[in-house]
Amino acid sequence: MAEMRPPIESGIPDATPYMHPTMVKNYGKWVYHNHPKAGVLYHRAESGDEIWTVKAGTQRQMDVYTIRKLADIADEFAEGFVRFTTRSNIEYMVTDGKKVEPLIKALFDNGFPVGGTANSVSMIAHTQGFLHCDIPGTDASGVVKALMDDLYEEFINCEMPNRVKLSTSCCEINCGGQADIAIIVQHTKPPKINHDLVANVCERPSVVARCPVAAIRPALVNGKPSLEVDEKKCICCGACYPPCPPMQINDPEHSKIAIWVGGKNSNARSRPTFHKLVAAGLPNNIPRWPEVGEVVKKILSVYKADARPWERMADWIERIGWPGFFEKTGLPFTKYHIDDWKGHRRTLNASAHIRF
Ligand code: SF4
Ligand code: SF4
Repeated sequence: MAEMRPPIESGIPDATPYMHPTMVKNYGKWVYHNHPKAGVLYHRAESGDEIWTVKAGTQRQMDVYTIRKLADIADEFAEGFVRFTTRSNIEYMVTDGKKVEPLIKALFDNGFPVGGTANSVSMIAHTQGFLHCDIPGTDASGVVKALMDDLYEEFINCEMPNRVKLSTSCCEINCGGQADIAIIVQHTKPPKINHDLVANVCERPSVVARCPVAAIRPALVNGKPSLEVDEKKCICCGACYPPCPPMQINDPEHSKIAIWVGGKNSNARSRPTFHKLVAAGLPNNIPRWPEVGEVVKKILSVYKADARPWERMADWIERIGWPGFFEKTGLPFTKYHIDDWKGHRRTLNASAHIRF
């Protein structure tokens, strides 16, 4: 019999050596779980083993001293095992219920809020930002820190109608995902082309193929091979900028922030939904993004007051209707909310055909 192929390096590493031994022992054999209080989950296994998970928020971009502090808390107040979630939370596992409260106190005392479970506002899922990516139009981590400072009370308490998931995306095209409230960069002007660099840096056919609306053509500019953009077609998506940095689209004034609401991946109670744009053209106002914070807090406060128990943002909007959403939140409904763009019928990369 042929030998099994060993795992390749780029795959997900085996997590077992890093898991709490009680979790390894009871893997796949949990009977039930519940939620004793904000930030704490309790699991009970068929064997009778119990485990409490305590979730704390972090600022995500952490220096080594902060990580050491979190590790010291794990050694002193938990059982030496932690994991990080995709939303930049750290979770500690303990098998003795008496350890839960001292652990929570140690986390709060060191500035790490405990919460983000059940019907709270979860930590914001966010994209890499300037630290790891070369195309951001804003610093996603900064928006997250500023917003979560504002939403601290909603993170540590479970007072929302249902779970509220937030996300940020620092460009319009790549990472990020569906969220109850999504904060997304919005370019409002076509890219400016540095024609001196295009021939040296960009593979022109791949840039032309990249444009979802076929707005880019090869062109000779000042005798050099370059590109040109049909600005009437361009939807300012920024997809040409990653493969061709001389097509600069980030702009301190014209790169804005937009807010979208009502997306969800979950199919509990209702089907998954795409979020929809509700506020456009907010200033990309570093380092605290106050205008973005105001809109997010406004939407959250109306949702909190008006939604029925266990209605997700999308379910609430479905019930009250989009006119009701704009009336209740007081957000202006403008022409930019209407998708009247027809060009996609001929040009949008919406087919499953392979393109070259
Ligand atoms: S959202 Fe865009 S800019 Fe931000 S990390 Fe992802 S690919 Fe990079
Ligand atoms: S910004 Fe988007 S739509 Fe405009 S030229 Fe670039 S890829 Fe095409």
